[in-house]
Amino acid sequence: MPIDLQTLTIASWRAQLVAKTARVVDLVEAYQTEIVRRNGELNAYLEVFDQAKQIAEQSDQWLEKGNPLRPLEGVPLAVKDNILIAGEICSAGSKMLATYRATYSATVIKRLAQAGAIMLGRTNMDEFAMGSSTENSAFGPTHHPTDPTRVPGGSSGGTASAVGANLALAGLGSDTAGSVRQPASFCGLVGLKPTYGAVSRSGLIAMASSLDQIGPMAKTVADVEAIFSVIVGRDPLDSTTVEYPKVKNILPAIKNIRLGVPEGLIGDGVSEAVKNNFTAALDRWRLAGAKIVPITLPRLADALAAYYIISPAEVSSNLARFDGMRYGDRVAGATLREEYEKTRGQKFGREVRRRIMLGTYVLSAGYYDAYYRRALATRDLLITDFATAFRQVDAVVMPTTPTTAFALGEKVTDPLQMYLADVFTVPANIAGLPALSVPNGVDQTGLPFGFQLVAPSFREDLLFQLGKQHANL
Ligand code: GLN
Repeated sequence: MPIDLQTLTIASWRAQLVAKTARVVDLVEAYQTEIVRRNGELNAYLEVFDQAKQIAEQSDQWLEKGNPLRPLEGVPLAVKDNILIAGEICSAGSKMLATYRATYSATVIKRLAQAGAIMLGRTNMDEFAMGSSTENSAFGPTHHPTDPTRVPGGSSGGTASAVGANLALAGLGSDTAGSVRQPASFCGLVGLKPTYGAVSRSGLIAMASSLDQIGPMAKTVADVEAIFSVIVGRDPLDSTTVEYPKVKNILPAIKNIRLGVPEGLIGDGVSEAVKNNFTAALDRWRLAGAKIVPITLPRLADALAAYYIISPAEVSSNLARFDGMRYGDRVAGATLREEYEKTRGQKFGREVRRRIMLGTYVLSAGYYDAYYRRALATRDLLITDFATAFRQVDAVVMPTTPTTAFALGEKVTDPLQMYLADVFTVPANIAGLPALSVPNGVDQTGLPFGFQLVAPSFREDLLFQLGKQHANL
């Protein structure tokens, strides 16, 4: 019987393996066939790995010998192209790293492989993860899986498009300001930004180190949870990771759940359709017995402004290493200075250069106090705001994005409009909190909406429980 990729989940795939109705090789081949059929149009994958089939065969042999199923046995994954896989090119969507081959694998990749997952290929992304549409890739834009005239979101749009179009069962992205949740929302998927420090970034090409987290995308909350449980936990190779706290509280009965809605949340720039969709979701929660509590997060509106100071500052410092000598493809010049200028001028795209300039500016003497230090102070205040809110509510809820998937080309020439796409996702990164985007229906044209839940640090368990309840409302 052919495998139905449209309805397949990690859970149902495991059931098939247990019942021995399918082999891992069959599943990998099914995805590879779909990739051949659709990737030309979508540009979701930059490269598909030949050895996926071999690894699938090893998985089948392992099972034939009567070994028990590993947690992600034979689960084919799409991997964002800023996560290192030993021996493979890892370009970060940039000409700068177009020929760079990883010499080691990211910790998340090692953990996933050990759990039986299979990396199908590397997916397209905005250059160095800067963007909200995957149009900033040096390798062309990625298209939305169900409406190819639209963007899949970004910067992890390749993974979102791949999973949304059934070119992988699930995948990995990285989220610095929303790059997992926003594309997940645009493509009708579940996406998680874990607590800062929950998942190792060893082997992730850094964008803004105080904000970056790797996160899973999949069709269901249970699938995202399955992947998260494999990648979570302390890693000696990333000193920001911690031993993940094990003690968890059981979620109160639905009638005792308190969901906080920040006052003044829905401002200009949020589409009518998103407003109505969000209100309808709150009504369903209320009907099920939950308490919807208005809360104040006074600094929420400043989070985006703080992000566009803190993040470029860290970008300018993280990307200094790409000079054609230490890292990156070199463009020759007559003098050392010319060589730097040519390399960084030609190998970085417009958006990356814009961020480096912004970052250099806000860190420069004289402006440091005016911008950078104030952004850091705003960050502290936002953290306090959330801590106060979590004394009143179990989770904070918001739409994931101010609009549904927009048209290709619509915002690419207007960076400020593009930046506004992160207005609801950025606060969780600024405050280091875990956040989950779950599907919340579709509009008349079939474009998905997302519903976002933000929890206290290390309470991913709460997000998973609430996310599953949301799906059943
Ligand atoms: N839109 C954000 C930016 O361009 C996305 C960053 C991210 O989450 N990687 O900075």
